[in-house]
Amino acid sequence: MKLRSFLASTAVVLALVGTAPAFAETVSSAAIAGYVQVADHYTFPLGDMKIVALSDGTVPQDLHQLLTGASPEEVDGLLARSFQSNPVEASINAYLIEEGDRRILVDVGSGQLFGPGNGGKLFDSLAAIGVSPGDITDILLTHIHTDHTGGLVLDGKAAFPNAIVHVSAPELSFFLDASNSEKTGYARQYFDEAEQTVGVYERAGKVKTFQDNETILPGILATIHPGHTPGSAFFTVTSKGETIVFVGDILHVASVQLPQPSVTILYDVDPDAAEATRKAALADLARTRQLIAAPHLPFPGVGYVRSEGGESYSWHPVEYRNRAGR
Ligand SMILES: [Zn+2]
Repeated sequence: MKLRSFLASTAVVLALVGTAPAFAETVSSAAIAGYVQVADHYTFPLGDMKIVALSDGTVPQDLHQLLTGASPEEVDGLLARSFQSNPVEASINAYLIEEGDRRILVDVGSGQLFGPGNGGKLFDSLAAIGVSPGDITDILLTHIHTDHTGGLVLDGKAAFPNAIVHVSAPELSFFLDASNSEKTGYARQYFDEAEQTVGVYERAGKVKTFQDNETILPGILATIHPGHTPGSAFFTVTSKGETIVFVGDILHVASVQLPQPSVTILYDVDPDAAEATRKAALADLARTRQLIAAPHLPFPGVGYVRSEGGESYSWHPVEYRNRAGR
């Protein structure tokens, strides 16, 4: 009713100044629906911790160009099973972990690096829950790709002035050495963008590296799973017997790579290792019925994988709750 009366009074004002057609235009464009989700955060408890999934936005992905190891026809067939068609929309999800006085982000979205309108919503999502970038104490990077690290900087400066960035040692040494581009044939852009993002924190002495199987913060175990990138990491977070695993980019497109985990993506530094890592991880996560958080699965990207026999799996989003209490 409020909106309606506002529009009505606007119409009166516009009619008075003789611009009624502009009002008519406003009404017709408002009638065309866009894709807007106001709730860009989803909070849930994990033992004594609070976890918040934060949307950085979504981006369209042309899977005919990006996926390797399956023909466009095979990809279309798998998408059709999930009522999707190419191009598909990929979520960019980041996560906040609140543990005691610490506010820990897992990945930080794409920031300004994908251009206006594509990603970069993490800061709004944080503001919506009353957290400012200065409140963030730690940032855990699953890996150094722009859709996970772009938000580290705003206008070239550290966006999180008080945060320590945790990244695996092999990941940091690979991406902060541009000669690895020539050695491996992996696009130079990734190395340049690593310099512009993680490099800013590294030069300020604010990067802490970890090795495989290292407890990096209370209740947070980091493990390294090479393939997608040389130092891709999982973060296993536990509180009071409850656990969630932040798995990074073992999955880009659930509707294709779960039924057919052998399908790889152009962004994989080592596609064979990425495939092996995905298969091993999915088998383990399904067997243990482990809750996971995946950056590119539909927001909030939190749920379970189930074995469908052989090497096939399916995705089951966490039960949605929107109420007080547990
Ligand atoms: Zn990614």
